[in-house]
Amino acid sequence: MTTAEQHTGVRAPGGGSPHGSAPSPLTPAEEPVDLAPLAAELSAGALVTDPDVVLAHSQDRAIFSPVGRARALVRARSVEDVQATMRFATAHRLPVVPQGARTGLAGAANATDGALLLSVAAMNAVLDIDTVEQTARVQPGVINRQLKDALAPHGLAYPPDPGSVDISSLGGNVATNAGGLCCVKYGVTKDYVRQLRVVLADGSLTTLGRPTAKGVAGFDLASLFVGSEGSLGVVVEIVFDLIPALPDPITGVALFADIKHAAATITEFMASGATPSLLEIIDGHSIDFLNDYGDFGLPAGSAAMLLVQSNGDGSLEAAAAELEQFQRIAESLGAVEVTISDDPADSELFVAARRAVAPAMEKFAATRGGGELVDDVCVPRGALTEFFARMEAIAAEHEVFVSVVGHAGDGNMHPAVIFDAGDEESTRRAHAAFDAIMEAGLDLGGTITGEHGVGVLKNQWLARELDPVAQRLHLAIKRELDPLGLLSPGKMLQALRG
Ligand SMILES: Cc1cc2nc3c(=O)[nH]c(=O)nc-3n(C[C@H](O)[C@H](O)[C@H](O)COP(=O)(O)OP(=O)(O)OC[C@H]3O[C@@H](n4cnc5c(N)ncnc54)[C@H](O)[C@@H]3O)c2cc1C
Repeated sequence: MTTAEQHTGVRAPGGGSPHGSAPSPLTPAEEPVDLAPLAAELSAGALVTDPDVVLAHSQDRAIFSPVGRARALVRARSVEDVQATMRFATAHRLPVVPQGARTGLAGAANATDGALLLSVAAMNAVLDIDTVEQTARVQPGVINRQLKDALAPHGLAYPPDPGSVDISSLGGNVATNAGGLCCVKYGVTKDYVRQLRVVLADGSLTTLGRPTAKGVAGFDLASLFVGSEGSLGVVVEIVFDLIPALPDPITGVALFADIKHAAATITEFMASGATPSLLEIIDGHSIDFLNDYGDFGLPAGSAAMLLVQSNGDGSLEAAAAELEQFQRIAESLGAVEVTISDDPADSELFVAARRAVAPAMEKFAATRGGGELVDDVCVPRGALTEFFARMEAIAAEHEVFVSVVGHAGDGNMHPAVIFDAGDEESTRRAHAAFDAIMEAGLDLGGTITGEHGVGVLKNQWLARELDPVAQRLHLAIKRELDPLGLLSPGKMLQALRG
């Protein structure tokens, strides 16, 4: 067993094939390959073969996702480094796993056996901010927050704000089509991608999308790469559309004694035509984790809390009217307490609390054996009441602890199954519950993943969600762009059969 296998106890899939079950043309992981010619082509020091360093770069933030043993790590510093790596991989039939900041939650950036890990984290410059076009041109390794900070002095904004805004790269955000808190009003990453430069599996470089605000010349191939999880090419430059800086919001918090009342409030508030700039749900368990983790001033003993913000598109009156509407609906549906505040300090504190759920939960999970499986289903808003009933039933049936937070306004829920990772039976039940959550998501007319992606964690489930024709299309596109199946084998497309 390799070190990486010992780490997870699961063997990574070896080389994959873009042809479903056809034999893999990839070089076996155990076959030595002389990497010196690659090192010679790359920027000085870009090729790293030290096994400890390679291992340290072999895993994203998903737990229970297989991690293979990579051959080497390439720390690309330029587009030419990326091209040279892909040409070498093509010549030697080596799998390649593109990597950004490795904050992914689906194992999509994990090593596969014998792969070259191709990190673009060091390509991290904001290249240009065009205030006339309202665009920003960036390298893929730029951290999301870095771009936001660079735009602030220009009065411009790049809205998508995943919970990982301070640690995830924009290339990774594009490759996973990342969402976030403000996406309920401002949309997800795909809504801001104007143009991409992409290195394909054979090392060729292409520019996709349009240089102008409008443009319909040819297929919308840039969109094809958004959310493709590194399986079609390596994003080496991005032009994002921007919008004027977002107005400050008014914040509301509603507490409920029953989570189903919170769900009904979400449904009715959104049905009223509201356009909140943030609408999040935090269940009672998560409120407890947070209170144990830091001083966020959250009242204990509630079954759920809704956090809502409105910026009224810059009109304070419109924002206040929207939150009054929220308060009316929440109270009519059983909210125990509703508080509205226009103090930016309150707003920051509550948003900080929402962002702290992940580390707070990690702290709690550590007291229960450390296991945490964070799901990411997205259901129609109208199905939220039923969704929470199903979560309760799943927790009872599988005898597991399930807490839920989510981007409520989008119906994108993150139920987390917390379990004893050192106990086989507890782990088995947790996995069964994790699967049952996806089953419930599909059953309610939703999807297995709203934003975290498929990776290795959910590739069997992608085959459940896509119909046979959609599966065939996915594989046909993969074959055309990456005929040898070099990019991210064993990941997103692994279980599709066409
Ligand atoms: C605390 C926490 C909170 C999070 N909250 C959210 C959230 O609210 N919303 C959300 O959507 N996600 C969230 N995530 C998940 C994760 O941060 C996102 O998926 C993010 O977009 C991954 O970016 P990354 O740079 O870390 O990519 P990585 O993890 O390095 O890679 C992710 C995928 O993208 C591919 N990839 C990376 N860079 C490139 C590139 N340049 N070209 C081609 N493929 C590439 C990889 O091969 C892999 O398939 C969260 C994660 C954490 C740890």
